[in-house]
Amino acid sequence: MAKNPDLLPEDIQRIIGRDAQRNNILAAKMVSEIVKTTLGPKGMDKMLVSPSGEIIITNDGVTILDEMQIEHPAAKMMVEIARTQESEVGDGTTTSVMLAGKFLENAERLLDKKIHATTIAKGYRIAHDKAQEILKDLSLEISPENEEVLKQIAITAMTGKGAEDSKHIFSEMISKAVKLVSENGDVDLNDIKIEKLKGNSIADSELVQGVVLNKEKISQDMPKKIIEAKIALVDFPIEIKNPEIDTKISVTDPGQLQKFLKEEEYEIRSLVEKIVSSGANTLFCQKGVDDFAKYLLAKEGIYTCRRVSRSDLEKISKATGGKIISNIDEVNSYDLGDAEIVEEVKNKDDYYTYIRGCKNPKSVTILIRGGTDHVIDEIGRAFMDGLGDVASVVRTKLVVPGGGAIEIELSKRLREFAQSLDGREQLAVVEYANALEFIPSTLAENGGLDPIDILTQLKAEHEKGEKNTGLNLFSGKIENVLGEKIIEPYKVKSQALSSASEVAIMILRIDDVIASKPNKEGNMEKYEFGNGFDTRSLR
Ligand code: ADP
Ligand code: MG
Repeated sequence: MAKNPDLLPEDIQRIIGRDAQRNNILAAKMVSEIVKTTLGPKGMDKMLVSPSGEIIITNDGVTILDEMQIEHPAAKMMVEIARTQESEVGDGTTTSVMLAGKFLENAERLLDKKIHATTIAKGYRIAHDKAQEILKDLSLEISPENEEVLKQIAITAMTGKGAEDSKHIFSEMISKAVKLVSENGDVDLNDIKIEKLKGNSIADSELVQGVVLNKEKISQDMPKKIIEAKIALVDFPIEIKNPEIDTKISVTDPGQLQKFLKEEEYEIRSLVEKIVSSGANTLFCQKGVDDFAKYLLAKEGIYTCRRVSRSDLEKISKATGGKIISNIDEVNSYDLGDAEIVEEVKNKDDYYTYIRGCKNPKSVTILIRGGTDHVIDEIGRAFMDGLGDVASVVRTKLVVPGGGAIEIELSKRLREFAQSLDGREQLAVVEYANALEFIPSTLAENGGLDPIDILTQLKAEHEKGEKNTGLNLFSGKIENVLGEKIIEPYKVKSQALSSASEVAIMILRIDDVIASKPNKEGNMEKYEFGNGFDTRSLR
């Protein structure tokens, strides 16, 4: 460890050279070790307790790392991989972090052999490019029309998560939801709203062909249920005064006041009449609806919700085909949305508005139910994995075999490719290839099987040309996983490879860490370096 007292102020810490590399690699490795036990269908869950005592129970890589509030700079970069993976595909977070950790761990072996970090980085880059090429080659094209395959993708994604027991119903909901909202081969996951409802059991979760709003109708006198709903969507207030401006009106005699009130009444009346004459029997308003308007709307039997958020209004618009109207004079029958049923439903102490049975909804809602918040939240995360995977397959139409099959085949072909390179880069490519075996070996280990045995068998099968042979953790057997329909999106693997490689290379190239210590206000990044490395330095 060296510090230059002439150049740097006292409170700057600096580590350079091999120390810096070692420290960063160790941090990265630790992050990968943390998430490792959750990988695959037999992975275990983690319980995370926040300082305020809130509990999260999860199996989801990105959630674990996010909640841990890691502060070591290199470890933070590892957490970034998980976040990128989550936002790009929505699944494969554990895999990507594990790979980055292993790439770095293996690089350390080469560093120990006095191979320079830039040479390793170059070798890794070559390995990554080749790996992407092979991956593409090995992927299989499927038709997004094939609902069975989409369901199977969702099942593989949700296996081992909280949703395990209901994964068959859930996978059906997911593939149906994605198919409904997809347009021209693209899917916007924002069109699938996830609403969580405590109470009842997981099996009561449902796909609503429409929207579920956490809103009640504004008056008890309005109908509880509308059949054959004609829905008006408006983003202007149905009230007179602009609540943001205080107005003062001086009146000199009661007659004037009466006249003034009458005029207000008249205006509200005409607003409501225009809505009624459009043929609407349901109204969703983004702004306020005042008492008099409420009274009139109830009298006309119009189901009304007010202060509906813009994003919900847009979802209702997409689900029902109705147009959001900004000017009362434009309310007309053509722009109304349609739904089979709009109704108010009570759940525990809350009221919800269900808009159901939309004919060709471009926005749907998945209603997740369960006994406790922990259960519902973890199922929500499993749903996000499943949705992300199915959406990605609808987009790219490419899948790869799971259960470690793809990693073993990639690893084998990369090693063959390495033979064509010379010298030190060859060694780096071989280490990169070896790192990929971390996935099948961990799947085996988490499944209570001997990782070395399983790896040996898998490699032997792949040597024979059985490229789709993987570990099926349901049967505990080495077999053709495509036959067993353990399939994953191509995109999950390609994204995991690229973000893991990128970060590994970036960390590898760092040989000088200059860090500010926290100042008195504590608003600087804070972490400790040490000769050794203990978990505290991750915090
Ligand atoms: P990630 O966060 O990386 O998605 P997961 O915990 O979801 O991690 O595990 C994904 C891994 O589990 C993939 O490698 C996938 O192939 C594997 N997997 C899924 N189902 C099975 C199965 N039935 N048998 C063996 N491996 C499986
Ligand atoms: Mg997953």
